[in-house]
Amino acid sequence: MPETPEQSAAGRFDTVLIANRGEIAARIQRACRELGLKTVAICSEADRQAPYGKTADSFICIGPSTVAKSYLNQDAILLAARLAGAGAIHPGYGFLSENAAFADAVEKAGLTFIGPTASSIATMGDKISAKRAMMTAGVPCVPGPDTALPDDPATIECIALEIGFPVIIKAAGGGGGRGMRVVPKADFLHEAIALTREEARKAFGSPSLYMEKFLEHPRHIEIQVICDDHSNAVWLGHRDCSMQRRHQKVVEEAPAAGIAPDIIQPVGLACVQACLQIGYRGVGTFEFLYEDGAFYFIEMNTRLQVEHPVTELTSGVDIVQAQIRVAQGHVLDLSQGDVSCEGHSFECRINAEDPESFLPSAGVVTHLALPAGPGIRVDTHIHAGYKVSPYYDSLIAKLIVHAPTRAQAMARMREALAGTEVEGISTNIPFLRALFEDGAFAQGETDIHYLEQWLKLRRAA
Ligand code: ADP
Repeated sequence: MPETPEQSAAGRFDTVLIANRGEIAARIQRACRELGLKTVAICSEADRQAPYGKTADSFICIGPSTVAKSYLNQDAILLAARLAGAGAIHPGYGFLSENAAFADAVEKAGLTFIGPTASSIATMGDKISAKRAMMTAGVPCVPGPDTALPDDPATIECIALEIGFPVIIKAAGGGGGRGMRVVPKADFLHEAIALTREEARKAFGSPSLYMEKFLEHPRHIEIQVICDDHSNAVWLGHRDCSMQRRHQKVVEEAPAAGIAPDIIQPVGLACVQACLQIGYRGVGTFEFLYEDGAFYFIEMNTRLQVEHPVTELTSGVDIVQAQIRVAQGHVLDLSQGDVSCEGHSFECRINAEDPESFLPSAGVVTHLALPAGPGIRVDTHIHAGYKVSPYYDSLIAKLIVHAPTRAQAMARMREALAGTEVEGISTNIPFLRALFEDGAFAQGETDIHYLEQWLKLRRAA
């Protein structure tokens, strides 16, 4: 659909403040530059040497190393935006990216928040209201009520019996794999609820919990969407993020192996319909569990995700640029018919951590060699001499490959991992190399418990 002059003039900005750090700050900066936008990088005291600070148009230190005083300090970020003349703020992922109050404060300051509206973030940020919205929109959900658990023990027992054990207790405000507890049978129910409620109160500031069926051998499959402000929405295919340790993704791939188009197609279309119904804007991800041929919605992430590159490589769409353009008010320049996903892509998260104990490893990178070649992409902010700080997430690089088939993409990833050398700190590279030699993983379609079981067997061997 061609743009009217009003549409193309809407939300225009020429300078973007990137309210994040690490690889994603570098990734967003590249997208801005390619769109001809100026960039403002921010940092904490620990990140003063960040390479993306040198390539930004402005670089502002906004506070001390602890995240509460820097990357989560909304006032400092808004002040930096004003000082540097930014017209928009890109929150990246993590930090303030799913904070509705921040999105609201950005808009109230007269700036554009590169993301959905504060009200979409608030609806989807509460997993109970998200589930309700999805049920209303006809998206298949995990069995269990779309209401918060009451206090009354007898009613709770009734809900659990109706769902059938095992059940999972989840915090409405949970995230990052925290605030969840599996209950195998009735004996443990009330204790599990008391513990999770307390954790939820402390970690997420709300004791609100809900209960759903615990699926025993699902895969984690997700659908990427992008929507503009003019009632256009498309889905860009699917990803499999079942390779998880402690509910945290380690390896992601697109597309999910072995799922027939006629099974996934209606789910993708339901996601698009849901976006249109809730008036969603920007990029988003619908996360599902997939078991015995059926999909069950678990949550929606209202932001750019760590694993977006596997979809970029298969769909050919630059998701970050598209996200910025829709925030500028542009009409989405692709329709569903234009979306075609080709080949297969894997992403490995390279973390600064011990490959056996998984404890974070900080220090100076004394030597770095990164792989290159056809179908290999590395998203990183580190270089030889870079100091990995203990204050932040341990993700130091993402290794992404693309090839015509899944088997070829696996072979390419083995090569890419073999060509990656990081010295001075410990990384999970040895663990990733071993995982890409695993027969069951190579077969595909492993479930969300596979990686933990594989690690247990390796430790026992
Ligand atoms: P978070 O917001 O913390 O990432 P999610 O709701 O996305 O939480 O769940 C994270 C992971 O927890 C899922 O990928 C899956 O491994 C597991 N999980 C969540 N809900 C269920 C469920 N009903 N049954 C089985 N596993 C689940």
